[in-house]
Amino acid sequence: TASTVAAAPEDPLFGLMKAYREDPSDKKVDLGIGAYRDNNAKPWVLPVVKKADDAIHNDPNLNHEYLSIGGLPDLTAAAQKLIVGADSPAIKEKRICTLQTISGTGAVHLGGLFLSKFHPQKPTIYLSNPTWANHNQIFSNVGLKIAQYPYFSAKTKGLDFDGMLSALRAAPNGSIILLHACAHNPTGVDPTEDQWRQIATLMRERAHFPFFDTAYQGFASDAWAIRYFIEQGFELCVAQSFAKNFGLYGERTGAFHFVSAGGADASAANANVASQLAILQRSEISNPPAYGARIAAKVLNDPQLFKEWEDDLRTMSGRILEMRSGLRERLEKRGTPGSWEHITSQIGMFSFTGLTETQVKALRDKWHVYMTKNGRISMAGLNTNNIDYFAEAVDSVVRE
Ligand code: PMP
Repeated sequence: TASTVAAAPEDPLFGLMKAYREDPSDKKVDLGIGAYRDNNAKPWVLPVVKKADDAIHNDPNLNHEYLSIGGLPDLTAAAQKLIVGADSPAIKEKRICTLQTISGTGAVHLGGLFLSKFHPQKPTIYLSNPTWANHNQIFSNVGLKIAQYPYFSAKTKGLDFDGMLSALRAAPNGSIILLHACAHNPTGVDPTEDQWRQIATLMRERAHFPFFDTAYQGFASDAWAIRYFIEQGFELCVAQSFAKNFGLYGERTGAFHFVSAGGADASAANANVASQLAILQRSEISNPPAYGARIAAKVLNDPQLFKEWEDDLRTMSGRILEMRSGLRERLEKRGTPGSWEHITSQIGMFSFTGLTETQVKALRDKWHVYMTKNGRISMAGLNTNNIDYFAEAVDSVVRE
């Protein structure tokens, strides 16, 4: 059978990383990677993670037994609180269930698989245009039909709010709508609170089902939008990643939450959902990985460590903000054609620069600067050593 299998295209992001690694230039700049880097372009182990890791590592009772199917209870309970808030009625009324997953990717997949199998209408899922590229393959792999809603306005480099609302209005009643809870990937553009309210109103009118993906909580806003939708009585699900906000990328730590709307039988219905999710999880991964979950759980459940985690988050987001204003300032000082205001108005780890595919290619070929071809840069790849060089490079290709 192998002879009948055609070669698959290389994953664009991992292909980019490989090209960067193989580039011998000492000027090269990696702005492709969606992982935090410190000012020396090195991976950063959060000090609080190191502390929790040491404590776990030195615990004489540590073993390597399996977790349960749903994962580490200390993590799933804390993850719930982080998303919906400790006093959420959803927790009190036992109408939220949570399974630990293989990071955010596993959570998106588990949610997609569940909806594909158990949603009686198996509706189309609407993804923002653009979105995290993996959304497309994850949802099509589980057999969901995919459609898009406009999201980014090339003109304003902000939200195409009217386009988004019209598409959600035109979507068949009861569609699934994938929403990035905060720090949208790849654009760095989020709806305002008022816009979220309007999105919620429209989605309720159309009986759409919100599927929140949150991979950057702590980098930008909190879980405001998710909490608002829950308050408004939506049934919804959430895919949560701890990769970026704990720097636990390779440990694959995340969670999937299903929140039922209030009502007399909500808790029983939610328990049924949990039981089916457990069977799906068992057949796919049996049980999730333990080590990253132990680290995140220790930090989330210890008030002192939690505070230190918030400090670490501020360190990361603070450096990114400095790079945003630094880049904008440099481009404006050079008089680089175009407006660069969006560099500071966009939030989270990425900036959608508006650079064209040709400019992106020129940056790579002539300047050894690596970024995805849609013009997205990871702000964390910039630092005080390469920001002048990058601004010079952008200025040059924009003027070509
Ligand atoms: N969703 C979005 C929008 C993301 O940007 C990412 C990370 N790039 C993920 C989910 C999942 O990442 P991970 O599986 O590493 O948690």
